[in-house]
Amino acid sequence: RAKARGRAGHQLFTAQMRAEALNLITLERDLRRAVRDGQLTVEYQPIVALSSGEPEGFEALVRWSHPTLGPVSPVQFIPVAEESGLILDLDRWVLREACVRMEAWRREVPHAGPLSLSVNFSGQQFAQPDLCERVEEILRETGFDPHLLRIEMTESVLVQDSEVARANFGRLRALGIGLHIDDFGTGYSSLGYLQHHPVNVIKIDRSFITRMSASAESAELVRTMIGMARHLGLRVVAEGVESPGQLDALRGLGCDYGQGYLFSRPLSPGAAALFLQGARGPSSGHEVTS
Ligand code: C2E
Ligand code: MG
Ligand code: MG
Ligand code: MG
Repeated sequence: RAKARGRAGHQLFTAQMRAEALNLITLERDLRRAVRDGQLTVEYQPIVALSSGEPEGFEALVRWSHPTLGPVSPVQFIPVAEESGLILDLDRWVLREACVRMEAWRREVPHAGPLSLSVNFSGQQFAQPDLCERVEEILRETGFDPHLLRIEMTESVLVQDSEVARANFGRLRALGIGLHIDDFGTGYSSLGYLQHHPVNVIKIDRSFITRMSASAESAELVRTMIGMARHLGLRVVAEGVESPGQLDALRGLGCDYGQGYLFSRPLSPGAAALFLQGARGPSSGHEVTS
């Protein structure tokens, strides 16, 4: 990549070269190998309680460093994983990996308190009749508390409203697992169907938070979403919080949680552990037990 950048000298040319290199067939083959050979990693982005400023938990975000192309964004490879069916293994791998990591932090950074884990599940997961057994098995093997697990899905999963998905929601909720709606507002922008599903949290899409500071209309839209969520007994996470101004506005609107570069970028496991050490409890939070 460094070579390509040096030779081309132009960001655009590099982007085009990359786009060409990332053709579907090659990408699918390489991704299959990556899942199998453990080339994927997970980063952890804190989700912060706006009232206290303390981290409530982490969202696990998958990362892929391609052997020759370098880092490939999940925005590019998740669709490939979905088309090829690899997504089922990929999402479960991320869940297992993140549960193991969270259990290690629970032992090593006890003053951080109980931390939630949010994972992204593709819509395809909810069409699997054995989804719940698979998740339970991972929780049992890793020891992670189901009450601290949140599964994020997009609005489209609710709107499709299949019987299998509905049964899965009920069973996951019965285990104590939270169901969170990701990128809220980008899909169908109707809160009506939320009433008919056991959803716990909406995550307001970054695009609304970004526009909030510049447009009174967007700020009003965010206010409306938070108000309706409250009315339905749901809590709210704001995605993509980047400025103190946005944070102030969201606090004023009674938003519960925030996630974004203002608090922290997604972190490698080592950096996330350091973030936790500094987050809560004694400033000398260096005692490591286990
Ligand atoms: P998402 O679930 O909505 O995750 C939030 C995305 O916004 C992440 O991008 C994160 O890095 C980015 N982000 C967070 N805060 C900010 C901010 O303040 N400003 C800006 N500009 N961006 C911010 P990322 O990691 O590239 O992931 C993109 C999407 O890929 C995710 O969106 C999710 O839909 C999908 N994804 C990631 N990991 C997985 C996975 O394990 N399984 C599945 N099925 N999808 C995943
Ligand atoms: Mg998400
Ligand atoms: Mg999101
Ligand atoms: Mg998103």
